[in-house]
Amino acid sequence: MPSASPAPSPGDPNRLRHVVVVGGSVAGLLTAHVLADHAERVTVLERDHYEDAPGPRAGVPQSRHTHVLLTSGMNALDELLPGLLTELTEAGAPRLAVPGDLGVWQAGQWISRRNPSAPIMTPSRPLLEHRVRRRVLAGSRIDVRTGTEVTGLLGRPGHITGVVVRDRGAGHHTRQDLTADLVVDATGRAGRTPQWLAELGGRPPAEEVVDTGRAYATCVFHADDPAGDLRGFYIVPDAGQPFGAIVLPAEGDRWLVTLSGPRDQAPPTDPEGFADFADRLPHPAVHKWLSTARPVTRPVGYRHTANRRRRYDRLGRDGTGLLVVGDALCALNPVYGQGLSVAALSAVALRKELAGGRVPPAHALQRAVLRSSRPAWDVATGADSPMPGATGNAVRSGPVARLLDRYLARVRDRVPGDPVVCTANRDVLFLLTPPRTLLTSPRVLRRALLTTAVPTPRDLPTP
Ligand SMILES: Cc1cc2nc3c(=O)[nH]c(=O)nc-3n(C[C@H](O)[C@H](O)[C@H](O)COP(=O)(O)OP(=O)(O)OC[C@H]3O[C@@H](n4cnc5c(N)ncnc54)[C@H](O)[C@@H]3O)c2cc1C
Repeated sequence: MPSASPAPSPGDPNRLRHVVVVGGSVAGLLTAHVLADHAERVTVLERDHYEDAPGPRAGVPQSRHTHVLLTSGMNALDELLPGLLTELTEAGAPRLAVPGDLGVWQAGQWISRRNPSAPIMTPSRPLLEHRVRRRVLAGSRIDVRTGTEVTGLLGRPGHITGVVVRDRGAGHHTRQDLTADLVVDATGRAGRTPQWLAELGGRPPAEEVVDTGRAYATCVFHADDPAGDLRGFYIVPDAGQPFGAIVLPAEGDRWLVTLSGPRDQAPPTDPEGFADFADRLPHPAVHKWLSTARPVTRPVGYRHTANRRRRYDRLGRDGTGLLVVGDALCALNPVYGQGLSVAALSAVALRKELAGGRVPPAHALQRAVLRSSRPAWDVATGADSPMPGATGNAVRSGPVARLLDRYLARVRDRVPGDPVVCTANRDVLFLLTPPRTLLTSPRVLRRALLTTAVPTPRDLPTP
């Protein structure tokens, strides 16, 4: 399907001539889609080869793990690629109401399923990327070169003018320079732009890190629905209870089950050890359900879960010609399920920033993209800072942070049984309202400070 607005006319001084997007995954594709309305030519360079059908790729190691698409991400994708959500539904992607369809365990209790719900979608990561790719590349203004690895930047500090590429395969010794008036880095969590800037003699961006050392393992199962009309489980880890689980249906009558543990307590990646690990969860429901389920893959592990934000926005004019998006800019602890939604919200923010006609300088675009990821960063690092063993230069500490953590713990304790606090907290987690709402809403403040938490039943929650 073609892009929404007409192709820019060649030679237009208010347009970019050539944009190179490095990394053809979700963030790169959505950014290319937006920039195609403001450039004569967009080239996406992707190290992997794409398959025709949805499937995991080597360049996206997280593609075998459970992914949720939050309400905010659904809204943003619908704005960028109208009809995409319907396509996902037609391909079998489940749509769940939270907490109505899920058993969510938080703060030592199940959340009442009678609290008001918001939707999420749970397509597998490969299905979502495949459908995004098909839609974005259907237009004729984006070229894609797969099997093409970027190995460095061209230009000088303060004026990036392109990238150095090599083909992966027979001719991998040949170097080729590709010039562009904007280079977008969408190379994900392992992105090497800081080193590439340093190689040009420039300063790399400052990095902010909060790392809890959380480790993941995911296994795919065939199984019956859990009891009590439930369509999945989400066991939320917190400072007092470090084990997490997420059990969600995906297309193809499969269940993706992700278990997570704190530093030095990674879930095992052998099938028996994986199932036994679920016994450490604070409620037996997931372990019991797993004992009736049949694994169809071996568990796979994942350990790079630190929150890591690179402050390219502070390079100012030194970052001229460069825009960094997605996980390469702001990688989040996946336990909060935000990265895809942030990629979509950032593309919407970029589109707004470009709406004025003239293409703003790269550092203005960079600031807009970073701003759009700030609520997710605040949620993830705010929740991770008080976790035992959290390390990094952005861990929140000091008396004000301790006071804030105590207040937020009171909010969390009231989520399971209080519909008002539950809705306010969920809207923050789903990136629908900014985190400060929990501090400024008089209704939430009153309930958090002046009421006692209402206990919910210990049994699996009924509708
Ligand atoms: C275990 C795990 C679970 C997650 N769960 C969720 C979830 O539930 N919900 C959610 O919203 N998000 C989740 N995320 C985050 C989500 O996967 C990412 O935010 C999302 O994939 C967007 O990433 P991206 O496009 O920035 O980078 P990636 O998807 O990592 O893609 C980077 C791309 O760049 C390419 N590339 C890299 N280097 C080069 C190079 N030098 N030259 C050319 N190409 C290159 C790679 O091949 C790849 O295609 C999870 C992440 C992990 C790790």
